[in-house]
Amino acid sequence: MKKWWIILLTLFALPAAAQVRVVATFTDLADIVKQIGGAHVQVSSLARPQDDFHLVTPRPSMALELSRAKLFVRVGMDLDLWADDLLAAARNASILRGASGYVDCSVGVRKLEVPTGRVDPSMGDIHIYGNPHYLFDPANAKIAARNILEGLKRVDPANAQEYQRRYEAFVQRVDEHLNRWHQILAPYKGTLVVVYHKSLPYFLQRFGLQELATVEPKPGIPPSPGYLREVIARMKNTGCKVILIEHFRPRRFPDAIARETGAKVVVLPAAVGAEGTTDYFSMIDAMVNRIAAALAGR
Ligand SMILES: [Zn+2]
Repeated sequence: MKKWWIILLTLFALPAAAQVRVVATFTDLADIVKQIGGAHVQVSSLARPQDDFHLVTPRPSMALELSRAKLFVRVGMDLDLWADDLLAAARNASILRGASGYVDCSVGVRKLEVPTGRVDPSMGDIHIYGNPHYLFDPANAKIAARNILEGLKRVDPANAQEYQRRYEAFVQRVDEHLNRWHQILAPYKGTLVVVYHKSLPYFLQRFGLQELATVEPKPGIPPSPGYLREVIARMKNTGCKVILIEHFRPRRFPDAIARETGAKVVVLPAAVGAEGTTDYFSMIDAMVNRIAAALAGR
C-alpha cells in the first residue's frame, strides 16, 4: 500500500517541482516559450498585454520573479532595455547576459531600419539599434523559437529531445499558417497603408503591403498639426484608406485623420493576450484578418 503512495507522489509532485521557471519580457515570447517547453516550463511575462511596448514600468515584483528564474527570454535591441536594471536588482548570475540562462531572441534576425552613421535625438529616442518589432513577421518568430529552444536545452538538457520535437512542430505550424496568411493578403499586394508607429515594417515587408506614412513623425514623437495636415494630404493624393494602430494607442490623432480622409482606423492586437488573442497564431490571425477586411472595404 505504501509503495502506491510513493508512485503517486512521484507522478504528480515531481513534474511541478522539476519545471523550469522562465521569465520573458513580453507575452508574445512567453507564449512561444510555452509552445516549445510544454509541461516542463512555468513561464511568466514581465510586461502585460495592455502595456505600450515602449513604456513598460518596472516593478519590484519583476525583480523578485527574475531572482527565481532559470531562463530569461527577451526581445532584445532596445525594446526591453528596461529589464536591465531589473536583472541587476535580481542578483541571479545564471540569467545575466552571456550566462546559460540568458536568451536574446533577436540573435540571427535580419534587422530593418538600422541607423547608419551617428544617432542623435532628432531621430527620435527609440529604435536606436534598428527596428525591434521583428516578431510581427512570422518568419522571425521561428528564429526567436530557435533561440528559445537552445536556451531550454542549455538549462534543462534532460528534456532536450522533447524541446526539439516541440520546436519542430512549432516551425511547421508557422509555415502552414504563413501560407494561409499570404493567401488572405495576396489580393492587396502593393497597397498603401498608414501606421501609427513604425511597428509594422517586418509585417508589411512579409506580406507585400507598403507604408505610406506614420502618424508619429518619428518613433515616440507625437505629431504636430502641420505634420498631420501633411499626412492627410498624402493620403488624399494616393487614395490610402487604412490607418493601422496598435491596441494601446490613443484614438485622437488617427480619428482626426480618418474624419478628413474617410479612412478606416484598424486596431491591431500588438501583443498576445490583447484584443482577445490567446497565442501567437491568434494574434497574427487577427492582424491579417482585420487588415484584409479593411482593405476589402468591409
Ligand atoms: Zn517601436
